[in-house]
Amino acid sequence: MPNIAMVDLQTQYQKLKPAMDKAIEAVLHSCQFINGQAVKDFSQHLADYLNVKHVIPCANGTDALQIALMALDLQPDDEVITVPFTFVATVEVIALLRLKPVFVDVNPCTFVLNEYLLEQAITPKTKAIIPVHLFGQASNMEAIMRIAKKHSIPVVEDNAQAIGADYIFSDGKRQKLGTIGEIGCTSFFPSKNLGCYGDGGALFTNDDHLAKKLNIIANHGSAVRYHHSEVGVNSRLDAIQAAILDVKLKELDQFSAARQKAAAYYSAHLKDIPNITIPKLARYSTHVFHQYTLLIERDRDGLSNYLNSVGIPTGIYYPIPLHLQEAYNNGQYKAGDYPVSEELAQKVLSLPMHTELTEETQHFIIQHIKDYFL
Ligand SMILES: *Cc1c(COP(=O)(O)O)cnc(C)c1O
Repeated sequence: MPNIAMVDLQTQYQKLKPAMDKAIEAVLHSCQFINGQAVKDFSQHLADYLNVKHVIPCANGTDALQIALMALDLQPDDEVITVPFTFVATVEVIALLRLKPVFVDVNPCTFVLNEYLLEQAITPKTKAIIPVHLFGQASNMEAIMRIAKKHSIPVVEDNAQAIGADYIFSDGKRQKLGTIGEIGCTSFFPSKNLGCYGDGGALFTNDDHLAKKLNIIANHGSAVRYHHSEVGVNSRLDAIQAAILDVKLKELDQFSAARQKAAAYYSAHLKDIPNITIPKLARYSTHVFHQYTLLIERDRDGLSNYLNSVGIPTGIYYPIPLHLQEAYNNGQYKAGDYPVSEELAQKVLSLPMHTELTEETQHFIIQHIKDYFL
């Protein structure tokens, strides 16, 4: 039985080891552990890669979302629109800042914010929209930006899962995800597509004024040391993590290509199995497959248990939509309120997906899925 990982960071590290160890050692030698040259270099290289004016590094993706909302000068009870089918971080920071999350259900094919439901969720109190580019592909940013502009509402992209993916506008123009809204946020959690060896995150913006403000908030509300113009937080990217990320950034397009190749192999071999829906690709986005997520029409948990029993790990992202989570329900939501998110929670199953998957491993996984259903 092969030793299969959901995400294989070990093999990837072994391949990057010479460059990685050298980069880490250079930081140790410099002893500049906070805001050192490594952080400046990585931020600049990431800005160049994304073709965005400003990259503001911070401590993790959740902080990035929080700092973004703090920079928008929102008032308690202002409404922030996001999706119920995502990782908890998005709604967590909305609640922490005493803002009110307003959910918009997702598209049943692409699992991202359903743009047709967006406008009806907007009220005079709506002060931000946070689309989440789930599993590696875009929300419909062209539609979202059009609606947001019409109502003068800023858009914060949660791009923790889709760094490196391109948005494809209807005129064919391409732009990196995370650079289209007023602010983009990402996470460098180790298993993310661009992951460090600990926690890390960043914000992106093309707006000089916002960039300054985001930087100030992330550094104790201070632009000049011991002068505090805002209430801020302490949220920094470690120099060692920045050095690690700089090594990986050079590989990011290859990482995305490896994920896309693995996804194409899965899809080619799983597409004709009854009961299984393979991931659908949005016409307006490339897909960098943070997750490879199937829809299993019946007996999802039976399949998952069977695969686990033969040494194949699987993931359910996400088993409970956010409106039904105890912390965010407050008695105001009930089952049936966001039917697509609720159905997806019952049917999604993610297979091992990372940069080091081999066809042999994928063949083994595919055979066992076929054994179970055919
Ligand atoms: C990972 C993730 C986050 C949070 O990132 P952390 O670095 O773990 O704080 C936020 N949103 C989404 C969609 C994520 O996948």
